[in-house]
Amino acid sequence: MINFEDYKEIFKNKNDFNLLIEKLSKLKSKKDNLIVSDFDDTIFSTKEVIDKDVRKWRRWEEWNDYIMKVIWLNKFIQDFYVWKDFPKEIISKLDKSKDLILTTWIYELQEAKIKTCKLDNYNYIIVPYAIDKILELIKYIVLELKYLPSEITIYEDRIQNFVNYKNFLENFLNTKINLFKVEINWNNKNIKEIIRIEK
Ligand SMILES: [Mg+2]
Repeated sequence: MINFEDYKEIFKNKNDFNLLIEKLSKLKSKKDNLIVSDFDDTIFSTKEVIDKDVRKWRRWEEWNDYIMKVIWLNKFIQDFYVWKDFPKEIISKLDKSKDLILTTWIYELQEAKIKTCKLDNYNYIIVPYAIDKILELIKYIVLELKYLPSEITIYEDRIQNFVNYKNFLENFLNTKINLFKVEINWNNKNIKEIIRIEK
């Protein structure tokens, strides 16, 4: 039995937790492998952004000035995402009808990246903090998918949160979690390795 107090960090709100538990209890399991992928450095390499050191633009964003943010956002997307290619190893695994891109950071920025890469016909969720991915994955399954997939396969360059919560998710969702750490080749923006993480 999963206790709210033990997983406050994930669920935050007890009423939401109770509602999820209630809805979850009515769901049936289905033989399916739900694929969930991160975006930055999993689907699309940030190599060029880091190489060209755009930190100076980040300061603009921190001013929290809406106009500056829009100018910055458009320029950033234009410079680094328009007409840029990305490796297809991960995205080719995703089924648009059910699988999920689950990404962290500023909503407007992540959405612009996803749209510019023409991936907005996939299911996608954007969260402010990496830890929020755990709850959003649960909510996506309980509220959108509405069945418990027998397996969930996760692709991430920063896999640690999913490593930490693997057992919890397997118990809570009555599923098997497969974790894969994606490593980008920093010489050419392609994927170097996809490594299965055993816990
Ligand atoms: Mg990433």
